[in-house]
Amino acid sequence: MRLYLCLLMIGVLLLSACGEESPISTSTNTAAPPTVVERTVTDVPSAPIASTNTVVSIPARPTFQLTAILATPGELDREWADTAAFQEQRSALVDSFAPWIEDERVVAAMRVVPRHSFIPTRLLDEAYNDYPLPIGYGQTISQPSLVAKMTEYLQIDPGDRVLEIGTGSGYQAAILAELTDEVYTVEIIPELANTARAVLDRLGYSYVHLDRRDGYYGWNEYAPFDAIIVTAAPDHLPRPLVEQLNPDGGRMVIPIGPVGDVQMLWLVTRNGDEVEMEQLLSVRFVPFTRED
Ligand code: SAH
Repeated sequence: MRLYLCLLMIGVLLLSACGEESPISTSTNTAAPPTVVERTVTDVPSAPIASTNTVVSIPARPTFQLTAILATPGELDREWADTAAFQEQRSALVDSFAPWIEDERVVAAMRVVPRHSFIPTRLLDEAYNDYPLPIGYGQTISQPSLVAKMTEYLQIDPGDRVLEIGTGSGYQAAILAELTDEVYTVEIIPELANTARAVLDRLGYSYVHLDRRDGYYGWNEYAPFDAIIVTAAPDHLPRPLVEQLNPDGGRMVIPIGPVGDVQMLWLVTRNGDEVEMEQLLSVRFVPFTRED
């Protein structure tokens, strides 16, 4: 209930964040107060967080451990060959969830991107199973079917400018890069950012813009974005991200909820000063961490 009220307050308080932090105001803020319209999709489970869970604060400091030194790109622990066996496994995986995805361009992207090259080689046998896998530093590469569904919700057209918060392995960024040439992705953990950069370059996605930074503040230099996807879960809607959405129909897909518990995936659509929030699915994402 607190989160629900919090989200409603977002509209009332000029998109102000509900967490402990005072978000930084950016130049794209508008004068008139936007209104938030809540619209609940009826054919998906309702938000369990609305009544049972407590909203917790985002940790003030990053929670990751700097335990490994980045290998140089040539030493990356990855399998690059896209063998017939991998292609068959990938095809079977995409077939398994393709009926859930209407956008054929998204399905085609999922069929092309070699997920096995985004994970450590010891996990290769599991590359084409439909679940998240560890990528180090306590983080995960997301479940493929969820990657597809979240990408579909973004409704990306060629030429759209897309921002991803939480590069992780770089896999989601590669899927986005199959749909538009204008992909911007940010990652807070330096080692993951560096590894993802190397993997994306090696696979031909060097046109993806990648930066190591706290994505709470988006990437204002390149705003506005037609679409924003957040792949870690904050406990409130970051105001800077709403401000960096294209006022002419920008879409954001973001999980919001308590750390380590079930969160709600939201579709946030901005039209001028009006921000509409639609509940999509119950999900479980890694925490959204913060820098000092
Ligand atoms: N999209 C990724 C999933 C990575 S998991 C993939 O396809 O592999 C989420 C990622 O978000 C983690 O790598 C985590 O370090 C990162 N993250 C968490 N908080 C962040 C923040 N404030 N800014 C940028 N990245 C963040």
